[in-house]
Amino acid sequence: MQIIGAVLERCGAPAPFATSRPVTIGPLELDPPGPGEILVRIEAAGVCHSDLSVVDGTRARPVPMLLGHEAAGIVEAAGADAGVAVGGRVVMTFLPRCGRCDACRTDGRLPCSVGGAANAAGVLVGGGVRLRRDGAAVHHHLGVSAFATHAVVSAASAVPVDGDVPPDIAALLGCAVLTGGGAVINAGRPGTGDTVAVVGLGGVGMAALLVARALGHKVIGVDTVPAKLELARELGAAATHTPAGAADAELRAPVVIEAAGSARAFETACAITAPGGTTVTVGLPHPDARASIAPLTLTAEARTVVGSYLGSAVPGRDIPRYVELWRSGRLPLDRLVSDRIGLADLPEALDRLAAGAALRQLVVF
Ligand SMILES: [Zn+2]
Ligand SMILES: [Zn+2]
Repeated sequence: MQIIGAVLERCGAPAPFATSRPVTIGPLELDPPGPGEILVRIEAAGVCHSDLSVVDGTRARPVPMLLGHEAAGIVEAAGADAGVAVGGRVVMTFLPRCGRCDACRTDGRLPCSVGGAANAAGVLVGGGVRLRRDGAAVHHHLGVSAFATHAVVSAASAVPVDGDVPPDIAALLGCAVLTGGGAVINAGRPGTGDTVAVVGLGGVGMAALLVARALGHKVIGVDTVPAKLELARELGAAATHTPAGAADAELRAPVVIEAAGSARAFETACAITAPGGTTVTVGLPHPDARASIAPLTLTAEARTVVGSYLGSAVPGRDIPRYVELWRSGRLPLDRLVSDRIGLADLPEALDRLAAGAALRQLVVF
């Protein structure tokens, strides 16, 4: 079938992308779903830092690539043995899980090695691509490629949700909430009454804040951008600081989530972790980034540093938990949506994200 989608032509184009135009929006051919795959009509797709990282070249991927990995939509067709009901809504996730490899047996601590290899190659876990343009292959982004009217994904990339979960909310569950929430519940594991500090208040950091609040924890937000600190307070943070302000206030928290993806943020997160506490790093800095911390503080203060790749998530296990929290009214995920845009506005949306001027912008169809 013919679809309309947003294809990244080259990695590393200079910002602003509204001017350098590395993304082309136009028609593509989409193959029907193969065995274990589904065809999804996309309803909403979030613009995430992991899209921006491919566009700006921080995480180079094979191009041309149809971007977008945080999305929700309606299943329109299913291949053999897909095990997903046609007509229902699914959340699509960036982390296909085969359920059979050694990594899949680590309860979410390691991402599926089969899914990871497929993501790196820009193909589906079933092998190859389902996207073509003028007969030439177009790669999939993280097994989803949701900046398009339709997508074919592996059923291992999709989690069904009930129809009462609106598309905007469902989309956010696929990346921001899975990652930020997972950093709290899977990796940080705060005890009853523990304060949670979040360093880096973008989409993932704010999702961590909301999930920690929903579970009854006091939350402290840390960011360099005053507007984000203000929003964090609106979303329930008990206090907010700039990194320098946190140091001046001698802030220490038993669980600290670093969600900024920078070495300086990691250093801040380590510096404000209390004795006996846990620093969770869930951000994805540039591979060449280096941080400086005093190892003695880890020893003398009996502290733990946990790397949480993609929130240590098992989507099929975690997403229903977030849906329950949302349904109970304790997880106001609608507050994460800063803009709703059309597909044609994607380059400008990437520029807003790069400038730190947006939380979650949703492409709606
Ligand atoms: Zn993402
Ligand atoms: Zn696996």
